[in-house]
Amino acid sequence: MHLPTSACTIESLASPTIAACATGPQATIDLGALRHNVRVLARRAAPAGLMAVVKANAYGHGTVRVAETCIEAGAEQLAVARLAEGAALREAGIKTPILVLGAPDTDALTRYAQFDLSVTASSARVVAALASARTPLRVHLKVDTGMGRLGCSPADAPALLEQLQAASHLKVDGLWTHFATADEPDSAYAREQLQRFQQLRATLQRPHVPVHLANSAALLYLNEAMQQTEHSLVRAGLSLYGVPPAADAPLTVSLRPVMRLSAPVVHLKTVSPGTSISYGARWTASRPTRIATLGVGYGDGYPRLCSKYGRVRINDTLRPFAGTICMDMCMVDLGRPEGALAQRVHEGDTAVLFDAEGPTAHDVATWARTIPYEIFCRLDARVPRNYVA
Ligand SMILES: *Cc1c(COP(=O)(O)O)cnc(C)c1O
Repeated sequence: MHLPTSACTIESLASPTIAACATGPQATIDLGALRHNVRVLARRAAPAGLMAVVKANAYGHGTVRVAETCIEAGAEQLAVARLAEGAALREAGIKTPILVLGAPDTDALTRYAQFDLSVTASSARVVAALASARTPLRVHLKVDTGMGRLGCSPADAPALLEQLQAASHLKVDGLWTHFATADEPDSAYAREQLQRFQQLRATLQRPHVPVHLANSAALLYLNEAMQQTEHSLVRAGLSLYGVPPAADAPLTVSLRPVMRLSAPVVHLKTVSPGTSISYGARWTASRPTRIATLGVGYGDGYPRLCSKYGRVRINDTLRPFAGTICMDMCMVDLGRPEGALAQRVHEGDTAVLFDAEGPTAHDVATWARTIPYEIFCRLDARVPRNYVA
């Protein structure tokens, strides 16, 4: 049993009593790396402030711990996707301004006031509901400059902004938009979105609304264009967690991956040629082979699609899976039983699914034909998060 030491705390939704489990995976969250990322991103964003995006359980890293650490390290504001995520942060005692990025339930506007959460005015209908609300509210008007998800058109924005500003119970704290392609190198489309936003601002009667538009990708890859655009906040998500949105774009800031996903070797054996492994018997040993069974599977959020091309790191060596990844376990091919690696690996040893050294979250995402965002968000609640300072 790996017991928490004073330097770390382990949190798990599976059971508050049995947080650590010697036969299951563990996500180690390096709060020192998170602090480092917040500092370098805040420096990069300056003079704009950093809004730390902690939606979806802080991309699987744990909302409250991450939010507290980001605030300590210099984040000025927080953002979540849903009302309940913001309420949970308030219930944990966090006082920092919080923007709910998603469209509001206009029947629940008093909840935003109750928890002091800023509302996204995402359409003319929402603006009308806000203007006739009976409670004081903080509002950020969202403009759709090309993402095509939420927001009013740039043409409608000036009138809607005036409507919001004319209502004495509303405090308009932001005007914002969101990029669709900022993670592509030198994106012309992102520049076009920026231009549409700038044109809108030039037409505004009362221009003194704080502006925010950059996500991680815009902050990292569009920095020059961003520097020429007046804005008071950037909304950083993935980069906080130490992972750049694009796998291969050159980086001018040093990010440190915050999460390591590891799992123990729970069983070892040597199989003879012709032995099949796992569901579907899709893998068969062609020679005597040492096989390690790891206590991690797709039920923990590790993608089953990694079965064929994925690798894990064990004893500083990258090794492929043997057969299909199961719900709670997977098997790894350690090579010849007499080989150096097979000789060194013992039951109870730790294998790494992803971390800073590699495989990285980008590697896993590539094997699973997705993006690192999804790898983090899929990490199941039963995986204990082990916070190290
Ligand atoms: C999730 C989100 C972000 C953060 O994006 P990253 O790419 O993770 O930095 C910023 N703005 C909005 C509107 C979002 O939904």
